[in-house]
Amino acid sequence: MTHENESGRPEGRGLPRRSVLKAGVAGGLAITGAAVATSATTAVAVAEDAKDPNLRRHFDVIVVGAGVAGVTATRELRAKGKRVLLLEARNRVGGRTWTDTWRGHMIERGGTWVDRLQPHVWRELNRYQLPIMADAGVVKSFMPTLTGFEELDPSVAYIRQGELFTKFFEDSTRIYPKPFSPLHRRDLVAQYDGFSLRDRLNQMKLTPADEILLTSWTSLYGGTSERGALTHIQQWWALSGGTFEAFHGVNTYRPKLGTVSIVNAMLAEAKPVLKLNSPVKSVVQNPGKVTVTTRAGEVFTAPEVIMAVPVNVWRNITFSPALPAAHREATTAGMGVTEERKLWIDLAKPSYRFVAESPEGRGDPFCYIGRFNDGDPVVAFTVDTTFNENDGDAVERAIRRIIPEAKVRDYVVTNFAKDEFALGTGGYRQPYQLIRLHEKLQQPHGRVKFAGSDIANGWNGYIDGAIEDGLRVAGSPTLSGPAAVAASAEERIFVPKVNRQSYRGLSVR
Ligand SMILES: Cc1cc2nc3c(=O)[nH]c(=O)nc-3n(C[C@H](O)[C@H](O)[C@H](O)COP(=O)(O)OP(=O)(O)OC[C@H]3O[C@@H](n4cnc5c(N)ncnc54)[C@H](O)[C@@H]3O)c2cc1C
Repeated sequence: MTHENESGRPEGRGLPRRSVLKAGVAGGLAITGAAVATSATTAVAVAEDAKDPNLRRHFDVIVVGAGVAGVTATRELRAKGKRVLLLEARNRVGGRTWTDTWRGHMIERGGTWVDRLQPHVWRELNRYQLPIMADAGVVKSFMPTLTGFEELDPSVAYIRQGELFTKFFEDSTRIYPKPFSPLHRRDLVAQYDGFSLRDRLNQMKLTPADEILLTSWTSLYGGTSERGALTHIQQWWALSGGTFEAFHGVNTYRPKLGTVSIVNAMLAEAKPVLKLNSPVKSVVQNPGKVTVTTRAGEVFTAPEVIMAVPVNVWRNITFSPALPAAHREATTAGMGVTEERKLWIDLAKPSYRFVAESPEGRGDPFCYIGRFNDGDPVVAFTVDTTFNENDGDAVERAIRRIIPEAKVRDYVVTNFAKDEFALGTGGYRQPYQLIRLHEKLQQPHGRVKFAGSDIANGWNGYIDGAIEDGLRVAGSPTLSGPAAVAASAEERIFVPKVNRQSYRGLSVR
């Protein structure tokens, strides 16, 4: 079995996944380099040449982080004619979206699903004419009961859960009448601001049989029901229009060519200077300019910097002057789900499409597990800290508790929480963070601005939120003026001779 975290370090039995990325990494290292996954199936070797005399050191804007938010901001600024340097720590773009290939399957190790209720990502899919696919759905559903799991026809499996969720969220559309402005009714939000998801479950006084129908989701989204804020999921419900069908349906469509197709399309349009393998170590503000230094000691300057890295990562970057109190509080406490691991599992059996949900705290580690298309591997999520996902027998045992005949052939784990450039999975607030921190985190710190799904107004914690927030920050008044230096029509992405064709549409040398 193959299981490892994103660092590429094998964990447990079997071959590491490193071989999948080998071509990309090996080629890049020879010349200070980097690797970019340009499509779902290709990891090509690319590199920047630090000795290149043409490599500029001063830019109009430096964007740190080539996740969806950073790439969106970069595209918008390039459209205004700015010279933009996009610095990315990893050897690939996409951040917490990561389209990969495993055992011949295209898999998403991070963000996956998109929906027409998410206007920003939907607009990008239309803009670039990127195909989407709908999951085929399931033929069997396994829902939790007090004594185990009950196999149900998918058409009836969610009836009771739908009723319960509707009650769980009963006030949400009133609290968020403008769901993309979470504090529009601050007075109403204040009544729930300190609630955890667990508090709301307790308040409902559900029967045990009903409660376990909800805790698969409250634990998955909250990263445990105790940790997650009620307000966050209430807002998602309001964003979904206040119906269970829409709320549940948000996880139906995905970009057919992978989430990386969105990022690549934006980069192809923006043509920024992109430097991979360039973790930023410090961001120092002096009168008139900001100096950004990478761990390798490279120094770049610009009048404006956008930090499009996860909130949880801020604490490991040196800021001078130091970050404001709200930013320090957020990055210390953490804003995202910290314990979620996503597994892709090649099940020898069963081969049918199914979904199963497990309650919190019963020793069933996979809050959500299923196969949604014929022939696909199974995807599973766990937030259970007592579960060792690197123990292949434990993984198989966990599935057998739901489907006794299950047989695991292989699996792979992604743990963004252990990845130093994420330190968590999707954004999700803790109690009190919405009123206390949300607006402050969007404020610039002098010449340094912040962007990312973690601080978005609308679909915070989703790809859509990352795009929304990249647009917000790029529209900041100080970034709206003309470029200080006339930029060339095309900036450069530094790619060596190999695999040039993978970068069709980008300016390469
Ligand atoms: C397992 C999982 C499942 C998810 N499922 C969904 C889903 O189905 N649908 C959905 O819409 N969303 C989903 N999400 C959430 C979504 O993927 C994220 O909200 C979104 O991708 C975040 O984008 P971002 O640009 O804000 O941050 P990121 O993607 O984290 O981008 C930040 C970038 O900054 C870089 N960086 C970090 N530190 C440094 C540094 N020091 N120097 C330079 N660069 C640095 C990182 O490498 C990264 O590329 C999921 C997330 C995870 C992890």
